[in-house]
Amino acid sequence: MAKLDQKILVVGAGPVGLTAAIELARRGFKPRIIDKGDGPVIESRALGVNSRTLEILEPCGATKAMLSRGLKMQRLNFWDWPNLIFSIPIRELKHRFNFILALPQDETERVLIDALKQLGVTVGWKRELTKLEQAAAGARATIKRGLKTEIFNADIVIGADGAHSTVRHALGIGFRGAAYEQDFGLLDAVVTGPVSENEANVFRVDTGIFGMFPAGHGRFRMVADQPDVQAAMPDRYAIKKIVWQSRFRISHRQVETYQKGDVFLAGDAAHIHSPVGGRGMNLGIEDAATLAWLIAEGRSSEYTERRLPVGAHVLRQTNAQTKLITSHNPLAKLMRRQVMPRLLKLDFVRSRLLPEMAGLAAPPPEWL
Ligand SMILES: Cc1cc2nc3c(=O)[nH]c(=O)nc-3n(C[C@H](O)[C@H](O)[C@H](O)COP(=O)(O)OP(=O)(O)OC[C@H]3O[C@@H](n4cnc5c(N)ncnc54)[C@H](O)[C@@H]3O)c2cc1C
Repeated sequence: MAKLDQKILVVGAGPVGLTAAIELARRGFKPRIIDKGDGPVIESRALGVNSRTLEILEPCGATKAMLSRGLKMQRLNFWDWPNLIFSIPIRELKHRFNFILALPQDETERVLIDALKQLGVTVGWKRELTKLEQAAAGARATIKRGLKTEIFNADIVIGADGAHSTVRHALGIGFRGAAYEQDFGLLDAVVTGPVSENEANVFRVDTGIFGMFPAGHGRFRMVADQPDVQAAMPDRYAIKKIVWQSRFRISHRQVETYQKGDVFLAGDAAHIHSPVGGRGMNLGIEDAATLAWLIAEGRSSEYTERRLPVGAHVLRQTNAQTKLITSHNPLAKLMRRQVMPRLLKLDFVRSRLLPEMAGLAAPPPEWL
């Protein structure tokens, strides 16, 4: 068992760093958590919270708060516009959380910040890790706050500082992978048309792919594999009011190790991939909760061997799914139009696919 008075520094107060701090505080540690920003993100970013994440965040009370704010997505429809080609009934999942919870990331982060506060830990905003040097035991962190600089000697450092992780760079750990060719567009808007707040819809349209997901407060998240999302939108919908829009290039990358000495990486700092399947934030939350448990058990040396294969599996899957739905290749077209609808009629296929979507494919970890 680890000593509870260890000085643990969590760098980054996104969903992953917040989960790490919560799960450590719940076990009696007093982690310090810092973030260079001045508060939680203001954009919706990750939208889908899966069943495993809801299980993980239940003991700290966050799940209850999230369920009261989010929408339950119970069906995922695939269209070769204007034809519905197949539908995945998420509610058939044999689990108490038989849905994907649609909750914008800014709201998830606010819930986690509240849960952390209840445990007596507050985030140190506007504090940036600028340098990290490993010592024989622990690491020496240089933290900048405005014009002031502070040195913090930590026994353990958790780098949950996102895709451009300073911690990862300081450790000299590579981030192997590649970028997809196309730019994606993202649009959160109030929409008119035949919309449902309990269903997600993905359309194959002339220009490529268009996805539409409920985001709460009458808004919908729309994504397309081109920057101009509205150009890809089927004409049965119309935009009433744009709330947020963005464009992004997707990469799939993963580190070769999640730890060096007493410094660990979790979430986007360790892996990034396509948003297809909505696994990004959920995978990071699982990393953080696993790491907190291992630290408490004095078994942090097992972290990479437990989490690297899980991350690699998700990267492989999301890469294959992204190629399948965005490809213009005739074979991919045949898979989408002919093979997938038939396969999804089989109970056996659905019973494998649904747990995968919900993050439940692996048995629950022993700490849950
Ligand atoms: C436009 C967009 C849309 C997305 N859509 C989806 C989606 O639909 N589904 C999905 O699953 N995922 C989506 N993602 C990805 C998802 O947002 C991430 O997987 C998730 O935020 C990862 O959480 P994290 O805590 O690891 O990193 P982040 O959320 O990036 O948090 C890292 C934190 O570290 C802080 N930080 C960074 N460097 C330092 C430093 N040196 N010192 C102190 N603090 C530091 C940052 O300020 C930040 O708050 C999207 C991302 C973007 C940008």
